[in-house]
Amino acid sequence: MSTTDCVFCKIIGGSIPALKILETADALAFLDINPLAPGHCLLVPKRHVQGILDVPADLLAGLTAPFPKLAKALLQATQASGLNILQNTGESSGQAVFHLHFHLIPRIDGDKLGYRWNAGAYPSGEGERLRDRLIDELGG
Ligand code: 5GP
Ligand code: ZN
Repeated sequence: MSTTDCVFCKIIGGSIPALKILETADALAFLDINPLAPGHCLLVPKRHVQGILDVPADLLAGLTAPFPKLAKALLQATQASGLNILQNTGESSGQAVFHLHFHLIPRIDGDKLGYRWNAGAYPSGEGERLRDRLIDELGG
């Protein structure tokens, strides 16, 4: 997708509106248009990158630097007691907008949002095999 077709680039460029809450040299945070909870916001790099697979490390560092400040403000403003930070990569994960973004989703005890994945367990030897494969992939 070109940056001219990208909805988040349009928000960054100001051609479509958004409820912006924080801006730095590298990052913009704004409220998600369809929140999972009040205060659900998105933290995006101001430069278009598709996702976590193609973001330069220095841009990722600048993008994530506001997390502590943003998280504290979200908890204070919404009276939430926790939050989920979510980053979807690829259609199979649910990524719909192919401009890198982190979701920050405030959570309150007893909210009906839910969060439960069916965790598994490795058959004998499979964890070790996968660890070795990953270390190989990372270049030893
Ligand atoms: P994804 O599924 O790609 O991780 O999440 C994309 C998010 O972007 C969704 O939660 C969706 O509600 C949000 N979104 C999509 N279009 C717009 C928009 O025009 N404005 C805002 N503020 N959020 C948007
Ligand atoms: Zn973009």
